[in-house]
Amino acid sequence: MGLFGKIFDKKECSICGGEIGLLGNRKLEDGNLCKECAAKLSPWFGDRRQSTVEEIQKQLSYREANQARVSSFRTTRTLGERMKVLLDEDAGLFMVTPARNLSEANPDVLSFSDVTGCKLDIDERKTEIEYKDAEGNRQSFNPKRYAYSYDFYIVINVNHPYFNEIRFN
Ligand SMILES: [Zn+2]
Repeated sequence: MGLFGKIFDKKECSICGGEIGLLGNRKLEDGNLCKECAAKLSPWFGDRRQSTVEEIQKQLSYREANQARVSSFRTTRTLGERMKVLLDEDAGLFMVTPARNLSEANPDVLSFSDVTGCKLDIDERKTEIEYKDAEGNRQSFNPKRYAYSYDFYIVINVNHPYFNEIRFN
């Protein structure tokens, strides 16, 4: 047994009881979650490892109830191109999703009144630009030169039991 015995030990999903294949396990604080169950969680949820089986069960029943909110959602306005903010202005609801098939994606439906803020978040990446000397070795310029790249994210801060921001670019 030893190490390999442990790695290849079959695990069972603590939610659906299904068998978890190799590399398919999503660890919970006190159990295991299969890929299929993990895919049903909110796309804005990021605290899985710190979640208990009970918390995940609760979220999955909330996600199930959200399906009904998605089917009664009537889009009156669409903002954005790839990632879209869909508004149901009559009901005062919105959701954020890149999906075309809404009932399959089951995006979390929120109320306008759940929004607590909005900001722009910028991630900067910096990599050094080098040159090759006569021997083919990489060398720094003097002074050093860098290439910068930026990712821009829109963050909508929300009041919600399973996430507190919707972050997308
Ligand atoms: Zn499962």
